[in-house]
Amino acid sequence: MGLDEDSLEYHRTDPPGKIEISTTKPTNTQRDLSLAYSPGVAAPCLEIDEDETDAYTYTAKGNLVGVVSNGSAVLGLGDIGAQASKPVMEGKGVLFKRFADIDVFDIELDEADPDKVVEAVKMMEPTFGGVNLEDIKAPGCFTIEERLREEIDIPVFHDDQHGTAIISGAALLNAADIADKELEDLEIVFSGAGASAIATARFYVSLGCKKENITLCDSSGIITEERAKRGDVNEYKQQFARDVPEGDLADAMDGADVFVGLSVGGIVSQEMVQSMASDPIVFAMANPDPEIGYEEAKAAREDTVIMATGRSDYPNQVNNVLGFPFIFRGALDVRATEINEDMKVACAEALAELARQDVPDAVVKAYGDEPIQYGPDYIIPKPVDPRVLFRVAPSIAEAAMESGAARTEIDLEEYEEELEA
Ligand code: NAP
Ligand code: MG
Repeated sequence: MGLDEDSLEYHRTDPPGKIEISTTKPTNTQRDLSLAYSPGVAAPCLEIDEDETDAYTYTAKGNLVGVVSNGSAVLGLGDIGAQASKPVMEGKGVLFKRFADIDVFDIELDEADPDKVVEAVKMMEPTFGGVNLEDIKAPGCFTIEERLREEIDIPVFHDDQHGTAIISGAALLNAADIADKELEDLEIVFSGAGASAIATARFYVSLGCKKENITLCDSSGIITEERAKRGDVNEYKQQFARDVPEGDLADAMDGADVFVGLSVGGIVSQEMVQSMASDPIVFAMANPDPEIGYEEAKAAREDTVIMATGRSDYPNQVNNVLGFPFIFRGALDVRATEINEDMKVACAEALAELARQDVPDAVVKAYGDEPIQYGPDYIIPKPVDPRVLFRVAPSIAEAAMESGAARTEIDLEEYEEELEA
């Protein structure tokens, strides 16, 4: 049977879907039930009525994330709508649970208007400890996230934007180290100027790259000031408009240190890789087919091409599951009000640091027993590496406490030990 058939079978096996709710307190006796519900439940209600933060003490809020989508940019499937997106959002819930023991309500909103999505999520703020926006198309996703970050007091994180930015950012930190180049000197070319590319370009600036060294290309070529003047690009692309002649992706890549592909498969040739600077960094992350294949890019040159893709069958998979479960774990555990830039940078740095350390045998075994060691073919940790939880979550919690985003202080050493146990 093929993957599609297997997947349909996996999902329809009784009970349909792949998640359910379970209770965490005794429910055997009449007494138990009168604690769980009326009349006993009134006591925690009154406590929370006095002090809203008691919701973290008496309800599941602090371990509950809303995965919210309107189904407008689902995987590579496009605008398939809210209902059809539900398997993906339930799947996101599975990953949250499996990797960080976080519970999820998946919320599929049948609404295209970004302002109405904002209103709906705002109304649900009391329910959740955090909100993961998912598979919402650009540029609406930018407005939705910006407004929600302003208007509600729990973390809001659009994974398609920031997950990609952070994980590939970790890869960039190590790739630059291996290529012996400084972040501030890197000439970086993006193919794509959508949700993930804009967020990634912004995040690389947070990491220390220079905005004036970043060139974005969309389906019409280089985003130039000339095009911006013509009103040819949206306000988000415009922020990266460069004062250079108009041209295409090949023109932009000539002499560049880094290529970041967040567009469509197969649009980069070996000649384009050959035109790049020495030891080029090539992150070809279009899914399922990268802008240029791993073997093709590697074979294009004599020097080292440091290559990452979105695929699991090649080294250096930029997989968002390395980020969101642990980012929310750390944020929830300090009852954070937001996931800010410091927390995102802390995540990228923790992941980059982890990739420089020796890899446990269990991880090596899970990946076919080939030695795994820091270098061009291992710049980011593997998704199944259990250390990611207890290294990344404490870094997030620490950054939240230091940046004023935490509602409560925790002891980081104890926290790391708890997570490791
Ligand atoms: P998006 O918002 O739809 O953006 C796609 C961008 O690609 C648009 O800016 C589009 O240009 C541009 N584009 C289309 N054809 C192009 C071409 N021939 N040359 C140059 N640019 C072209 O999509 P997204 O969510 O950012 O995702 C983009 C890609 O990255 C997808 O393949 C996705 O699977 C992949 N991705 C991978 C990861 C990962 O590996 N972890 C994470 C996120 C996304 P216009 O603006 O002119 O339409
Ligand atoms: Mg997604």
